[in-house]
Amino acid sequence: MKTISGTNLEQAKSHNRRVVIEAIRTNGPMSRAAIARITALTTQTVSNIVEELARSHLLIPMEAQRIARGQPIIPYTINPNGAYSIGLELGRQRAAGVLTDLSGSVRARIERHVDKPGPTEAMPVLADIVRDLLEAFSFDRDRLLGAGIALPGRYADGGVTSLSPLNLPGWQDFPVARELQRYIKVPVIVENDATAAAIGERLYGVARGLGSFVYLFLAGDGGIGAGMFLDGHLYKGSRANAGEIGHIIVEPHGRLCSCGKRGCLDRYVSPSVAYECLGIENAQELLPDDLDAMIAANSRGLEVWLEQAVQPLRQTIDFLELAFDPQTIVLGGSAPTTLMTQLAARLEPLHIPVNPEEERTIPRLMVGATGKDTAILGAAALPIFSETNPQFDVLQKPIIHRTVQQL
Ligand SMILES: [Zn+2]
Repeated sequence: MKTISGTNLEQAKSHNRRVVIEAIRTNGPMSRAAIARITALTTQTVSNIVEELARSHLLIPMEAQRIARGQPIIPYTINPNGAYSIGLELGRQRAAGVLTDLSGSVRARIERHVDKPGPTEAMPVLADIVRDLLEAFSFDRDRLLGAGIALPGRYADGGVTSLSPLNLPGWQDFPVARELQRYIKVPVIVENDATAAAIGERLYGVARGLGSFVYLFLAGDGGIGAGMFLDGHLYKGSRANAGEIGHIIVEPHGRLCSCGKRGCLDRYVSPSVAYECLGIENAQELLPDDLDAMIAANSRGLEVWLEQAVQPLRQTIDFLELAFDPQTIVLGGSAPTTLMTQLAARLEPLHIPVNPEEERTIPRLMVGATGKDTAILGAAALPIFSETNPQFDVLQKPIIHRTVQQL
């Protein structure tokens, strides 16, 4: 079992609630005594929190287990219907939304065709998608935590203003979260696609419950970025741009990059380079399955890309392992499945690790579990993560509550 430390300080009640939810999410159904043992909280504190979470429908009691002596034990589990969240995704040709429950299961999905939308076109389309999602599945609206949207691009202070999503005109400095919130009337969280995918993978995928991992995100219509979880924290950097690894120089004096430097990782590994090698000019206009089929059918083009992509990416993984000592590296993203699986297979063997003798329980490199849905499920995970993940810096600074429902 994983140890997740709590605290008995009164001002950290919210933190403790999150620790209890995280303990059950990571370990499965647990009794109050078992939760107290692994969180280092007192039984009384755990009892109070569990009762409160059960009253607000986030936890449900399971059937009591009778034991020989004493009170029967009641395990508690996460109630999938205890909270809901909306995930939104916007591409050049497609806008999509999902409604997920607290366990990450998709309860409704809506898609709309768009054509290289600017913000003024996109906002009403996204609002329509949200309205249709809420009509498609009926639930207690008080349990809707909010909506998340994952967008590519760099971020300004606070991570709310996207600087270059979609590489489309009109999005520069557009306050996505504020404007979308005005349309849909629920709290909106905007996050870059790599970070959103890392959050989704941690809540529901192969990185479930891991404290330290790096998520390498290959964007279907763009480059490569990283989302980082370090010691239980989402690490975002001083200007929320940590993980912009696409612009690490892997080839001094190499190919010119859009950032102005030469030899960036992006120019060798990104899916857009793969499409160049494969001779696919309209990748962003194709349906995902058609694109995947075209890639699989062109093994020579694929080989040309792999030849140039594998070594720089292996070198980057070596650097990330040495710099951050993660439990694992997860490769995923919205790039076509064939690109992802071929690349992952060819990356082995990785460079020699810092301690070659160490017996590993978790592989050094894993492929993400959420597949092509990674960005939209990650987006839906944003409000849930924001409300339920233990924030270990809570003891140093007060947290600002943006809760729909006090957790
Ligand atoms: Zn660059």
